[in-house]
Amino acid sequence: MRIALISDVHSNLVALEAVLADAAGRGAEAIWNLGDTVGYGPDPNDVVARLSEAGAVSVLGNHDAAATGAIGTDWFNSLAAEAAAWTRAHLEPETAAYLSGLSEVAREGDWSLAHGTLRQPLWEYLITEEAAEGHFALQETPYSAVGHTHVPLLVRQGTAGVEGETPVPGEAVALGEGLLCVNPGSVGQPRDGDPQSSYALIDTEAGTVTHYRVPYDIGETQRRMEEAGLPRGLAERLGYGR
Ligand code: ZN
Repeated sequence: MRIALISDVHSNLVALEAVLADAAGRGAEAIWNLGDTVGYGPDPNDVVARLSEAGAVSVLGNHDAAATGAIGTDWFNSLAAEAAAWTRAHLEPETAAYLSGLSEVAREGDWSLAHGTLRQPLWEYLITEEAAEGHFALQETPYSAVGHTHVPLLVRQGTAGVEGETPVPGEAVALGEGLLCVNPGSVGQPRDGDPQSSYALIDTEAGTVTHYRVPYDIGETQRRMEEAGLPRGLAERLGYGR
């Protein structure tokens, strides 16, 4: 089976549609969504409805928890807090119910799914060796997937320790024997300097994972953000992938 691994959609429906179309074209039959489904962007309700209809497996991100009021926004920077307040004010009851029902960690077959890390699913960034070791210590499946950083990454726990690797788009990577953690990057707000949407495709039969970049109509999302009255800086960063 082929599974589209997505994260950090951040209410960007135009980007999500482009990624789902690309994944469907590559034979994806399931969607695993690593959270921060809402926050920052203009289309929280449509994004959640689209993923819910598609039967996506989703976990909770910090922005999702802020949108429902489950957590406060004291730890958010001012633009993120402003967008979180906007999202909360515009959430339809079905969207809030969907987000409120999400768990912080999910297990699907050989995979554990979380937004940040298994140690701190809502908040921790898997960007240091220490965080990776803490994450792998709690990983009871061979493979795991996290988001939160908005930067695609492959991390392995081998006999020589933890090793990180930046995936090359379109290049299939063997899942391998040791513990592996995959970050698919962000669909709705990439931050690695490439403004195109990022996601990964798991092929369970081939035993591989492949990252992909997908162009989308960034101007259309920026237009919707302006119309919604969301902070201009959040719209502008989409153009730079930062
Ligand atoms: Zn995020």
